[in-house]
Amino acid sequence: MSAPFSWIRPEPHGIHVVPANAWIDPARPADLALVTHGHADHARSGHDRTVATPETLAIMKLRYLTDTGAAPVGYGETLRLTGGVDATYLPAGHVLGSAQILLEHAGERVIVTGDYKRRADPTCPAFQVTPCDVFITEATFGLPVFTHPPIGEEIAKLLKARAANPERCVLVGAYALGKAQRVIAELRLAGYAEPIWLHGALERMCRLYEELGVDLGDLRLVGDAPRGALAGQIVMCPPSALNDRWSRRLPDPVTAMASGWMCVRQRARQRNVELPLVISDHADWNELTRTIEEVNPFESWITHGGEEALLRWCQLHQRKARALALVGYDDEDD
Ligand SMILES: [Zn+2]
Ligand SMILES: [Zn+2]
Repeated sequence: MSAPFSWIRPEPHGIHVVPANAWIDPARPADLALVTHGHADHARSGHDRTVATPETLAIMKLRYLTDTGAAPVGYGETLRLTGGVDATYLPAGHVLGSAQILLEHAGERVIVTGDYKRRADPTCPAFQVTPCDVFITEATFGLPVFTHPPIGEEIAKLLKARAANPERCVLVGAYALGKAQRVIAELRLAGYAEPIWLHGALERMCRLYEELGVDLGDLRLVGDAPRGALAGQIVMCPPSALNDRWSRRLPDPVTAMASGWMCVRQRARQRNVELPLVISDHADWNELTRTIEEVNPFESWITHGGEEALLRWCQLHQRKARALALVGYDDEDD
């Protein structure tokens, strides 16, 4: 008999599911890639076959302009791989299409979370707590100092800044996949029905979200705005455009940024952000530890961020855990 869980092997460039010769979120081209979600550090191009949810495959096609070898799998659907491995995709609550992958082999159950959060998100189904033996969890915000406020408070700040500055616009920097659409959807939930103005780089992903059934309301392009139309309006752009030449055409923008890292004052200052909005698509410290308690695995494998503190927390709570050293996973998506 082989050692427990020896069929699943964390390598620096991905998690290898040995009997199926499959890789989860591989950082280099693979014969068979099981992809958790569409962020660029997880979903790369160049695999022979890519198994992912239909939404993630649509996002990848938009980004890479190809869907060769795409194999869709819906939430809750189980795929039989070679070598007697079953793979089931479960909602991760991170961005549209994001999945945890449950792998079952020889009576053992392993879950790879990919990125996840536990807060409600109007743009994707909620994380599903599922029992398993090995829980491979991300830990982007794996420090006790990271506690994210309720999103309603941050959206209220944004609306207040808009109301207080009728001559200016509020310019919100947000990542093109996930964050931008979530902020827009939350503004709509809060009753904001005005047009929301987009930098061109956000347009295609917002349109794709709408095609996939996420209603974002009246969206317009900044390039199409008549003179003077942007005073008192909300404008969204990718973080890279916050301080570049593009933003100079806007009426004296109040610069905002929606990111989990905005709780670190230094990060807000680096980007000259006047209005930091702590909005994260990752689990914060309390969600990470609560999720480990709820899933209650035999072992936790920790990756993708603050491994040390979460490892220490597991040890203090008599939970078996180890830190993995995967490379190439950056917080494109914080
Ligand atoms: Zn990630
Ligand atoms: Zn992500």
